[in-house]
Parts: sequence; C-alpha cells; structure tokens
Amino acid sequence: MQGTMLAAVYEGPGHLALKEIPVPAVRQDDDVLLRVEACGICGSDLGFIDGPDGGVGASGTVVGHELVGRVASTGPGAKHFAEGDRVVLDPCPPCLRCTYCLMGAPTQCDNLTYIGYGVDGGFAPYMIAPSQTLHRISTEVPAPVAALAEPLACVLHGLEKVDVRPGDTVVVLGAGPIGVLYVQMVKAVGAGKVIISEPSAMRRDLARMVGADYVVDPKAEDLQDVVMRETSVGADVAIDTVGNLLSTALEVIRRKGAVLLFGLHQANVTIAPWEIALTEKRILGTLIQSHLFPQAIKVLEGGIIDAQRVISHVLPLSRICEGMELLRQQRAHKVVIDPWASE
Ligand SMILES: [Zn+2]
Ligand SMILES: [Zn+2]
Repeated sequence: MQGTMLAAVYEGPGHLALKEIPVPAVRQDDDVLLRVEACGICGSDLGFIDGPDGGVGASGTVVGHELVGRVASTGPGAKHFAEGDRVVLDPCPPCLRCTYCLMGAPTQCDNLTYIGYGVDGGFAPYMIAPSQTLHRISTEVPAPVAALAEPLACVLHGLEKVDVRPGDTVVVLGAGPIGVLYVQMVKAVGAGKVIISEPSAMRRDLARMVGADYVVDPKAEDLQDVVMRETSVGADVAIDTVGNLLSTALEVIRRKGAVLLFGLHQANVTIAPWEIALTEKRILGTLIQSHLFPQAIKVLEGGIIDAQRVISHVLPLSRICEGMELLRQQRAHKVVIDPWASE
C-alpha cells in the first residue's frame, strides 16, 4: 500500500496534530499491517497529551491503543495471521527477557513497549503491529465494542487481585468507562450490592443503567454513611478508578477488606499505617494486564456485559480533538474514533 493517510500525531506535551503521513509498510518479519476499524480514546491518552507524558512518549508518534482492526498484510514470520483476520491489540507487549518478565511479572517489564505512545498506534486508517500483540475477535462484535477489549482486559487484571466473591459488596469510586466496566464485571462474577460514587450526574445515570445498586453523589451524600447503612461492617472491596481516593476507599471497606488502586493520578494522600496494620486491610495496585485478552474477548463475544452502553460517541478521525474535549469536560463516556468515517 502506498500514499498518505490522516493520523493523529503526538507532537510534544499539549500538542496533538492531525496530519497526513505515509501509509506504513511491513518491515520486520513479524509485522502485521492492520486496517484499523475503531480506536477508543483512553483517559491515559488525555493524561499523556496534556502532560507530563511520563517519559514514554515520543514526539511524532501516532496516538491510540484501544483498537480493533483487520489484517491487511503480514510479514513472512507472522504465520499465525492471514489477510482479513479480525484482531484486537495488546498495546504493551513485554520484552520477555528482563528480570520481571522472567519471574512471570510482565506488567512490570523493564522494557515495555507502549504502542500509541512511543510507537505508532491506531488513530489512523492503518498501523503496524507485531503479530505477538494480536488476538482474534469475532466479526459479530461491533467495532466500537471490540475496541473495549484492551480496557476490559485491564479491568479483569485488577479483578483477579481482589477476588470478589458471590454476595460481596463492592464500592466503585468513579463512574468513568473503567468504573462502569467494573460495575458490570463485579456483578457478572456474583457481587451482591454494588455501590458507586461519582460527582457527575451524567456518569451517575450510566452507572444506574448498567446495574449499580446504589449510586451516590459524594457532594450531596456521605458515602461512608451509605456503605455502613447497607453493610453494617463496610464493603468487602473498594475500587479506586480515579487514583486519588485511597483515603475514601480505606474508610468504606471492612476490616480485612481490600482496596484496588486502578486510576493513575499523580496525587499524594496521607494514611495511617497503624490503622492498616490493626485492621489488616489490603491495598493492591494494578497496572495494564497480562494474559487476559482471551478472557476479555470471551466476555465481549459472549455478551456477558452490556459494553455498548459505555460508548457515548463514535466520531470520525477528523473530529478527534472534539472527542478529547468532550472527555476533558466529562460530557462523554467512551469516545471511539472510526478512522474510515467521513464527516
Ligand atoms: Zn487505555
Ligand atoms: Zn521484560
């Protein structure tokens, strides 16, 4: 394939440019050229573009890492895929060689590749992906929903750590796309009461629609009061999808309960370590995912959750900046870009 294509390119902190760039070509043995069907805008994309980029970004990179596409062509070594295959992408392949990879902890790999930050991603009609990053997904799954495979895999990675049991009460802090995916997943694995806290009315409405039992506006109601009223001892699990709510999460869980920290927010909080020791509460971090794409794909293919509800906008690539602005102003849930749609 030759010629140029429109792409959303990171040009240093605060700058995303829509520009014509050459259509990429297969170079490495293991390369796959993907025709991108849909690519979701992630909260991390905004954090990255608005800065600081955490040192993983390279100026001139095509952004976008939550995507589904069709194999357009393959390098000679990419034997597991053929033209036309429909795939989703793991955007953070580990090196498989460092100490962490060798100890079976690839999310902590010293040499993670960040497709969509340091390497060209999916806000473009075509992109190159190493075949090891690709997973097949059914053509029955609508493209914007299939693009949720990556965030859903990350949600499942966190869920593995907190071990939600049938009947458990779970508090979810924040009803952005990750929060509402958590509401649906903890319900799917048998949680009893799910209580969500979210200041935005629009997001609270969505949380209600996807099955949260109690939807709390933390500006109007005391979350801890609600949780204690509903549980008498506190929630079994609290999930902070925002990243600066550890104190709140610790307040609402019972003794020996668990807090899952999902959101990446560069904030410091003050906690009392002796209280953690006395109450044997657990604080668990979770980052990206490993080996959970197959499960995320099964969840989407099986219709286990209503993933479509999480998507509020599908926009053409030419309107990506508008999509990002909607997210900054919290006037959208998940915004997905269709690089082939016209205005
Ligand atoms: Zn993401
Ligand atoms: Zn590694």
